[in-house]
Amino acid sequence: MLSPDDYEIFRFGGSSLIDEDKGINSMLKYFTSYFTEEQLKENMERYNLQTMFDIVKRYFAKEYGYNGTEIELSNIYQKSINSYIYNDSVNPTFIHIDELFESTLMGFLLAIFKWSKDFENPKTYRGCFNYVLFLMNDVCIFGEMQGGDASRALMNILNGDIQILRLAENCYWTIVVFSLAHEIAHAYLASAGKKYAGKHPEKEEYDADMIAYHIVLKIIMEEKTSDSIFEEYTYLAPMMYMDFFDLYYYTDRVLYKTVFRDPQHPMPIKRKNRLFAVVDKDDYEFDTAEGNNLYNCFLDVYDEFKTQLLIKMQMGKLDKVLWTEKRELMRREFENEQKRSDDI
Ligand SMILES: [Zn+2]
Repeated sequence: MLSPDDYEIFRFGGSSLIDEDKGINSMLKYFTSYFTEEQLKENMERYNLQTMFDIVKRYFAKEYGYNGTEIELSNIYQKSINSYIYNDSVNPTFIHIDELFESTLMGFLLAIFKWSKDFENPKTYRGCFNYVLFLMNDVCIFGEMQGGDASRALMNILNGDIQILRLAENCYWTIVVFSLAHEIAHAYLASAGKKYAGKHPEKEEYDADMIAYHIVLKIIMEEKTSDSIFEEYTYLAPMMYMDFFDLYYYTDRVLYKTVFRDPQHPMPIKRKNRLFAVVDKDDYEFDTAEGNNLYNCFLDVYDEFKTQLLIKMQMGKLDKVLWTEKRELMRREFENEQKRSDDI
């Protein structure tokens, strides 16, 4: 059980990235030549974390009769890729989506799609591999927000490819909706009196995923209009979200021999398989060819990254990007924390 002190740390700990050279804003800056400033502003007012949060809540009311009006949104930088819900039934409940997660996810999708599109171009290939490695290593494992240099490097690789920007942006919002819905689902399940303690704590995660994916598919089906960002072909984007975490844990394993262990959260691959079971139901109608193609392209590059990472590691080609001591220190800190919370 978390003490109120911990609540303060979670809720108000971290920083807001005022530095314009970091995070997602700096990335979008590079595309300004394609949009007028007004268009960009209008776009950001229409689609942002808060508006998505409101849409997801609206669908919870509609689909599950759950309002969740008391839930707040937190979006500061706490050096973590993971989102979570804080619900101690005393303080106001809030959902945290880290600013680090936002910019990492967007960068990840941009790099993966560009890599897949220009796979035969050695310069693009190399650039995308290195960038994804940087995201997994420095950003996901060590929690470092990518700076202006990294964003600029990515923008050079993209070279103004507006098609890739659109693909990444659409998939990005679908994933954001999924992760918001997943966290709200925890609150909904608690309010419905569901208790998960005991033998199978991972069951709650699966249930939250099922509900979240239902919400995502409903939103895509019902909100798609000619100028909406909810596009049918993004219906497998939540799978990419699972694969993103899988690559993160895989990279940690290959570079630092760290094995992902979390009794509460099942492995991303298992979660992904359950998601496929949801979308295969007859309740949803999708014209899926485009979405399937995009996901297959994604998977080709995902496999390529895994293979290349292992080969390069075995050949000693990654020695210069390894932070073995720092990783060891982090591991020990984590273990001490676990021990402390066991004592309580
Ligand atoms: Zn969860």
